[in-house]
Amino acid sequence: MTGPTENELRQSILEIGRRMYQRGFVAANDGNISARFNDERILATPTGCSKGFMDAEELPMVDLDGNVLSGAKPSSELPLHLYIYRERRDVNAVVHAHPPYATGFATAGLPLDKCVLAEIIVTIGSVPLAQYGTPSTEELPKSLAPYIHSCDAFLLANHGVVAVGKDLTDAYFKLERVEHSAQIVFIARALGGEQVLSREAVKKLYDLREQYGTTDIPNPGCYVAQPKEEPDTCDFDHPEHDTDFPDDFDEIVERVLAAVKKSGT
Ligand SMILES: [Zn+2]
Repeated sequence: MTGPTENELRQSILEIGRRMYQRGFVAANDGNISARFNDERILATPTGCSKGFMDAEELPMVDLDGNVLSGAKPSSELPLHLYIYRERRDVNAVVHAHPPYATGFATAGLPLDKCVLAEIIVTIGSVPLAQYGTPSTEELPKSLAPYIHSCDAFLLANHGVVAVGKDLTDAYFKLERVEHSAQIVFIARALGGEQVLSREAVKKLYDLREQYGTTDIPNPGCYVAQPKEEPDTCDFDHPEHDTDFPDDFDEIVERVLAAVKKSGT
């Protein structure tokens, strides 16, 4: 199978950058995107540029050690991308952004790892929360180490989201799904809390994932396959179920929802 040409890959990165910017997943110069061009080369986004207004010629081509082969200086988060490509041969694209709902969960210390939405279980499974690492340092790639071989999307504590895929569209769609599900879970919590799907229902969805999954990961990071004493619920241990909300939580949620409605997003 032949992959996209270098020019096609450059145009795809520009298109994904525009979508991220237009959807409000990034502000100013935030976020970064990369794609595997071949076994030894990665095309990435430059440092200090808005993802909504990039120039195809400026996109840096680098090797897997981060040496710049052509183009502008790469994003300071390039080591995070290179770490993922080295660990996951099945991954050909990585996107990183700060979408507000998912980043809100990441900032509140809440992973999106409950089996509650069928589409999410089939497509990306659990979205774990990687512990905080200082941006642009080796701390950030290290924070993904516990999850990189079992998940395709990750919340970065107090920072944002990373999603990986077999190509740029696949990685971007995962980013969109993470943000959309964070929005849904936020609303479900405002309405009394999400209901976790039964173990039986999750198992059926796992079977579907074998048909629709897009990377080599057989298990999306939910723990349904492990033995559990209580047969009616998903096997994942959900400690945040016991979270105590502040007294004025409902009022806060109402205010936020009103503001969201007003902004038309
Ligand atoms: Zn970031």
